[in-house]
Amino acid sequence: MTTKSSMKSQTSLPMKRYSSSMAENPHLIEFPTSPQPAAVGEEITHYSHSKHPLTEVTLNELFTCSGCKEYGAGKRFSCQECEFQLHEFCAFAPPLLKNHQLHGQHQLVFHSKPKPAKAGISWPRCNICGKSTKGFAFRCRACSFQMHPCCAMLSTEINFPPHPHLLRLLPPLSTNNDLACGECNKRRPGRMYHCTVCDYHLHAACAKALYNGLRETGIPLPDPRPNAIEKAARLASQVVIEFIGGLIEGLGEGMGGALIDNIARGRCISRRRMQE
Ligand SMILES: [Zn+2]
Ligand SMILES: [Zn+2]
Ligand SMILES: [Zn+2]
Ligand SMILES: [Zn+2]
Ligand SMILES: [Zn+2]
Ligand SMILES: [Zn+2]
Repeated sequence: MTTKSSMKSQTSLPMKRYSSSMAENPHLIEFPTSPQPAAVGEEITHYSHSKHPLTEVTLNELFTCSGCKEYGAGKRFSCQECEFQLHEFCAFAPPLLKNHQLHGQHQLVFHSKPKPAKAGISWPRCNICGKSTKGFAFRCRACSFQMHPCCAMLSTEINFPPHPHLLRLLPPLSTNNDLACGECNKRRPGRMYHCTVCDYHLHAACAKALYNGLRETGIPLPDPRPNAIEKAARLASQVVIEFIGGLIEGLGEGMGGALIDNIARGRCISRRRMQE
């Protein structure tokens, strides 16, 4: 990865300027080998998308990062020629994380390709937020620990305004799943932060909104049950195909056949039904 401006080769805190809460936090995350973030509007060339340059843009809308496959909003590095977009922390993720607060015992290596999904269904989960890792991730060579680039932005203690107290990350306990989160009011897997003053709990998954632009833009996280959405989407597309199939029966051959060829490409669809 290169930027058109001169890069400072060594900087310990390239992300610092993006979070006032981090700037006040004495336990800052070290991204020791990451280059300095690009200036506003700067073009970069990223190794994961070398065919087109990426430009820093800020849009008040949700996007899915082409690197980590997670949501983001606000600032991103976007391709002007295709749909490719990256979170800033994904665009500048360093190759190694040493002594990271969330996994200090081992060095973490950046991977741009995910571990394959088990049996083609369930992706390996992030040890911090509990969500699946389908793209960019930091993985430990010595154990099975892995986390999203966004989760690597978190530390063991965070400020989550407007909550007035410092929140501390709880150890990975199975009982965490029974605690309701003060932000989403739901129960879900993944690590949790806790306020000892008022017994407030916050999912690490919800705390990520501090860094992925969702909190800044005020855009709510979409439904946290992607499996339900995927199932619904699969069901819906099947319904649509059946519906169009039925429609084309009424239309006859010709354009109807071409239309359904396009829709059905790559899918298993009953040709017999269309010939009827
Ligand atoms: Zn990302
Ligand atoms: Zn592109
Ligand atoms: Zn995560
Ligand atoms: Zn490890
Ligand atoms: Zn939550
Ligand atoms: Zn509190």
